[in-house]
Amino acid sequence: MSALPEYKTRVLLDNEGVPLVAGEFVAAEAEMPGQLPEPPVYIKAQIPGATSRAAQGLVRRCDSKEQLESGLKQLLAPGSWGQAEGVLVANAVNMKGEYYAACMLDFGNAEKLPHGVLLFSTEGGSGVEERTASLHKIPFSLLNLPSADDIVAKLGKVDNAQAIGKFLEGFIKTYARYKLTVLEANPIGVLEDGSLQVVDCRAEFEKHAVGKKDAELFAAAPVAKDDKTRLERLVDKVNEGDPAGTGFIRENREPAPEGAWRVATNLCGGGGKMLWEMTTGARKDIYTMNESDTSGGLSAFKSYRVLRAILEMEGSQVLLLTGSGMGFQNQYHLAAAMWKGLRESPTPLPALLRFGGTDEDKGRELIAKVAPSLPVPVKTYLPHVFPNAMVDDVAELAATERVKVTPEPQPEGEPTFSVDVPPGDFYFYPDKWDKDEAPPCVGACPNNFLSWNAEKRTIETVEGARCIGCLVCEVVSLLEGNGELRIKLDLPEVD
Ligand code: SF4
Repeated sequence: MSALPEYKTRVLLDNEGVPLVAGEFVAAEAEMPGQLPEPPVYIKAQIPGATSRAAQGLVRRCDSKEQLESGLKQLLAPGSWGQAEGVLVANAVNMKGEYYAACMLDFGNAEKLPHGVLLFSTEGGSGVEERTASLHKIPFSLLNLPSADDIVAKLGKVDNAQAIGKFLEGFIKTYARYKLTVLEANPIGVLEDGSLQVVDCRAEFEKHAVGKKDAELFAAAPVAKDDKTRLERLVDKVNEGDPAGTGFIRENREPAPEGAWRVATNLCGGGGKMLWEMTTGARKDIYTMNESDTSGGLSAFKSYRVLRAILEMEGSQVLLLTGSGMGFQNQYHLAAAMWKGLRESPTPLPALLRFGGTDEDKGRELIAKVAPSLPVPVKTYLPHVFPNAMVDDVAELAATERVKVTPEPQPEGEPTFSVDVPPGDFYFYPDKWDKDEAPPCVGACPNNFLSWNAEKRTIETVEGARCIGCLVCEVVSLLEGNGELRIKLDLPEVD
């Protein structure tokens, strides 16, 4: 999943006639325009994927020409946030109210086709506690988009229904036309005459879904400076070795405010990120250690490696994992990666885990079963639980002092066999399995990649089958066997 910054999301919305607050984009590489909009204006650094920008000083109000010029200079230069693609200068508007809207994808299930979901609230763009009570959740067909009247009928009794229906019709059209995975407007300003304008927005998309004619709209702008941290480079290397699906982290460059809980996040997909932003955007007591995205059907091997990088972030007090409640990745495989990461990391974090999607119950059961053996407390949540309930538990779980453990030793020596993509080394220990029949891990492989050679008393791989890096065999070996099969997942070397 890739993030589209606000100034590009505005272009998509504008193409479908969705009204926007007037604004002008100043590119980092370009000359400063001679004529700038008249203050008061807001200036907003454009960084794909960046959330909580106001808290990071990346959104500022300028009431004078001097403030505008110096603010622009600061935000266009590289800073602790990295290098912005440019700055959006947006007019300040008088609003009598704020709405919230988002579209996201529901992958469906055996009974239900994939479809879009519209989230809409008339109770303001900030402060999730107030918003969740009034949040409308409206599923819609991606093949037959709803009209303004359809939307209003589904919303039920709302003030300003005509303006809302028209606005949301264009909003959904934008989402569907560009095959976005997430589109969010927060807030939507309600002007004195009842008309609506998008004040802030963002989008996420899958690169392979972008049509040729739209490629330029979605292309990343060149940035001058590579300011990646060691852990970000580590995750880049993980992606090189295991390219399927998304694995992404970006550490927060801003110092944590005194007294705020420092939460390391493992957010699964744009929906997870959106819910996290809705939950914590207005909270001063929560400091997000990092942006993150693990999604798009990545292997559990890759989830494990990204998690290991997240657990390494110094200063973190608690780990929070959530998707939007409908992950593409098998959630039992994800839970296997979580268990492995938490038991093999020298710096595990107390964890709040919310699984949602295929095999979510199996994922939760696995964690419940192994939790007592972990060196940190772990709590799981049902997929319909909104992340603010998880955030409410942060204080209870967060470690005031970082837990440091000596994890169980990794397998050593020549592996029994290895897999190149996703990369992993498998070790079979015959001394831990003295029976004639195959150990349970062999039959547990969902891809029939493993076979038992009774004569040689070892595990072999099946020609023509493929390992998907799901970790199920290791889980079964540890829980139902005698630990006879172990998988070693090296982390890439980085300076
Ligand atoms: S061998 Fe099978 S069970 Fe084990 S990780 Fe590979 S696909 Fe999963």
